[in-house]
Amino acid sequence: MLDLLLTNGIVATPSGGARLDVGIKDGTIVSLRASGHGVPDEATRVIDCAGKLIVPGGIDPHVHTNSVLPTAAESGIKCFGPDRVSEGAVYGGTTTLVDFAHWKPGDELEQSFKRKAAEWDGYSYTDYALHGTFNQPEIPFEVLDQIPDAVANGHGSYKVWMTDTTPTRPKQKTDIGHIWAIMERTAAAGAMLCVHGEDDDIVMYSYKKLQREGKIGLEYMSHAHNSLSEKLSFQRVITLAEHVGAPIYLMHVSAREGIEAIREARGRGQAVYGEILPHYAHFTEEDYRHEHGAIYHTYPSLKSADDRDAMWEALVAGTVSTLATDGVCTDFEVKTRGKTIIDATGGHAGVELRMAVAYTEGVHRRGLDLSRFVDLTSTNAAKILGLYPRKGVIAVGSDADLAVLDTNVRHKVTAADLHEADYTAWEGYEIAARNTMTVLRGKVIVEGGRLTTEPEGRLQEQRLSSDVASRPAC
Ligand SMILES: [Zn+2]
Ligand SMILES: [Zn+2]
Repeated sequence: MLDLLLTNGIVATPSGGARLDVGIKDGTIVSLRASGHGVPDEATRVIDCAGKLIVPGGIDPHVHTNSVLPTAAESGIKCFGPDRVSEGAVYGGTTTLVDFAHWKPGDELEQSFKRKAAEWDGYSYTDYALHGTFNQPEIPFEVLDQIPDAVANGHGSYKVWMTDTTPTRPKQKTDIGHIWAIMERTAAAGAMLCVHGEDDDIVMYSYKKLQREGKIGLEYMSHAHNSLSEKLSFQRVITLAEHVGAPIYLMHVSAREGIEAIREARGRGQAVYGEILPHYAHFTEEDYRHEHGAIYHTYPSLKSADDRDAMWEALVAGTVSTLATDGVCTDFEVKTRGKTIIDATGGHAGVELRMAVAYTEGVHRRGLDLSRFVDLTSTNAAKILGLYPRKGVIAVGSDADLAVLDTNVRHKVTAADLHEADYTAWEGYEIAARNTMTVLRGKVIVEGGRLTTEPEGRLQEQRLSSDVASRPAC
């Protein structure tokens, strides 16, 4: 006897969409059978999904929670916590989020994971994983040498910054020598290294130049966080990764030059993966000129229409692998309090709409394959961060994490309908898909527009496959 049977939906499997019945027991997918053939298996609950599209629950590989906003450090204002962000996520059909566990001087590496996991445990409606994060100029050798044990404990991804981002933020850049040291250890232990790639010298010089010229309005953001900076930093870290033989994941790619650097590296067979944010693929630097242009901003920056167009070309062609949000969820007042290139708040609310926007822009507008849509919103993040095949795929043996989408809707987005924040950069945007039901490990947690569960999300172990670590596998 099954616990749950979803019948008659179009189910997105790795080989494409098919009308299948999805059988679930003990949180796991146990059967996938053609709908309407033979007698359906008995189940405690049967849900008819006729006319709906069933996809793997979304995985957002890049969200921040509970962190003090660097540009508001003096006020101590934090972005929202896992409760709020994961609530928005599950309404939108995302069932796994990946946040950041910051190592602090004096910590054993494992302590930093424990501290961050405690903020999620009991508060999250999604499952979650944590990137180990080094945002210090130097990492002591004894901490570097703890990386293999942390990887063995299931902490399979790490992040570094190549820039301090603005002249006034707390320092977060790690020098390239220490990035080399981290990369040697993540590669040897079989972990992914995530990189915020910007060339710090170019960025900081550009700030000085722009400040001297009085050009500090938001509309100059792409002059400080420019394409040259992305190109130089990507080339540098890709060269380092080639030398070490390390897999890397370049977060928030924002420029055509960045995509080109990734394409070249993958062409040489390097395990280099890129991430694009939906709003980088939709808005441009012109949007900074709006009255509340800050709502469109995430570091590095929005760029030109040509860069924006390069994003979807790369998503369709498979040059980049994931669509993430870089979610930093706050309300409108906080998001818009910084009005200049010095004090703008990066990140934004977008977790809830990520799947709908990806479907609308990809499948609906550009005829993207269903399987590629699933790759971008779920499967590839699972592979790159070592969650696959437990997460990221509808297959027998995988966790029953599912989103049931209505793709026959045309619905204008308004923040009042969302659960994540009191504003959205997508206000008035018409979506062509809407999540109607979310299943996490076999339990229906969103149904009929309501959240029907307590926060029961669990920390996920990350174990990277050698295939993903050794070549551009997705
Ligand atoms: Zn970043
Ligand atoms: Zn980020």
